[in-house]
Amino acid sequence: MRASVVTAFDRNVDIQNLPVPTPGPDQVLVRIEASGLCHTDIHAARGDWPVLPSLPFTPGHEGVGIVEAVGESVDNALIGDRVALPWFGFGCGHCGYCIDGRETLCESQRNTGYSMDGALAEYAVADARYVVAVPDGVSARDAAPLTCAGVTTYKAVKVAQVVPTERVAVFGIGGLGHLAVQYAKIVGGFVTAVDITDEKLSLASELGADHVVNAAITDPVAEIQARGGADVAIVLAASSAVFAQAFQSLRRGGRLICVGLPKEGAFEVPIFETVLKGLSIIGSIVGTRQDLREVFALHAAGRTRVLSELRSLEDINEAMTDVLDGQVPARVVIQF
Ligand code: NAD
Ligand code: ZN
Ligand code: ZN
Repeated sequence: MRASVVTAFDRNVDIQNLPVPTPGPDQVLVRIEASGLCHTDIHAARGDWPVLPSLPFTPGHEGVGIVEAVGESVDNALIGDRVALPWFGFGCGHCGYCIDGRETLCESQRNTGYSMDGALAEYAVADARYVVAVPDGVSARDAAPLTCAGVTTYKAVKVAQVVPTERVAVFGIGGLGHLAVQYAKIVGGFVTAVDITDEKLSLASELGADHVVNAAITDPVAEIQARGGADVAIVLAASSAVFAQAFQSLRRGGRLICVGLPKEGAFEVPIFETVLKGLSIIGSIVGTRQDLREVFALHAAGRTRVLSELRSLEDINEAMTDVLDGQVPARVVIQF
C-alpha cells in the first residue's frame, strides 16, 4: 500500500510502499477512502510539540474507510461498514475519565497518526472499540473533516456552554473554524469570525457568521469590544498571540476556549482582570466517540456543510505548505 511516512522532523513527508498491516486481536483493517489533513498533522510532521511521536510514523487522524478485515476478538459483522478513525484512537476503558464521560483525558490513551500509525495511507488498522460508524447519507469526503475538525469544534462549543444570543468569537477560520462557526450558530450564538484573509472571512459569512474581522487590517480586540465584548472566544489559530487577543476580547463572565496548539505556546494572563471580570480559561481536546456520533447525526440531518479540496497522497507536502500559507479554503482531503 502507499502510505505517507514521517521519517524525520526536518524534511518532507515520504510516500512509501509498505505492506498492508494485519489487524491485532481487537483491531479492524480499514481501506481508507478519504483522509483529512489537519494542521495537527503538520505539527506532528515537524515535531512542534513537547511530546514527540516516535519515528517513523504515518500521520492522519481524519481517516474514513471500509472495514475489510477484523482481528480474532472483533465481530465479523463490522466487515463492510464505513467507519471513522479519529485522533482518540484508544483509551484504557476503565479509569475515572474513561467511565465518567471524559475519555479523551485518559492517561493511557493512544492517538491515531501520532502514537500509532494513522490514516494518511491506503490502509490503516485501528482498535474496533474506538472507530465510529459513519451513518448512511454522510459521504467519506464529508466524514473525514468531521472526524477531527468537526468533533473538536463541536466539543469546544459544548464545553463553552453557549446559550442563545451569546456572542461567540471564533479566531481562525481554517479547517476547524469553518465548522466552529456552524456549531456556534446551531446553539443560537451570534458569531464573529476572525481571520487574516478576506477569502476565509467571506467563507465564514457564507456559513452564517454574523460579523467578520480581518485581523490583518483591524484590531480584533477593539472591534469586538466596541460591540460589547465576546461571551465566548474560541481560539483555533496556531499562534499564541491570537490567544492573548481572544482573551482581551472577552466581556465580563466570558470564557476563553483554547483549542489551537501553536509551537511556542504561552500567553500572559492578567490576574486582576481575570478575577474581577470572572473570566474562565478552558482547554478543549478533540471530542469523545459520542460527540463524533452527534457530529455525524447533525451532518446527516443537513445541519452542517463541510468544505474540502481534494488532493492526492503524492501532493501531501505541497498541501501542507498551502495550509501553512493560508491558501486552502477550509480542509484538504486526500482521496484514495
Ligand atoms: P488551519 O491552518 O486550517 O486553520 C488555522 C486558521 O487560523 C487559518 O485560517 C489561518 O488563516 C488562521 N490564522 C492564522 N493566523 C491568524 C491570526 N493572527 N488571527 C486570526 N486567524 C489566524 O488549522 P486547523 O486544522 O483548523 O487547526 C488549527 C489548530 O488547532 C492547530 O494548531 C491544530 O493543531 C489545533 N487542533 C487542536 C485540536 C484540539 O483538540 N485541541 C484538534 C485539532 C486541531
Ligand atoms: Zn486534528
Ligand atoms: Zn482511561
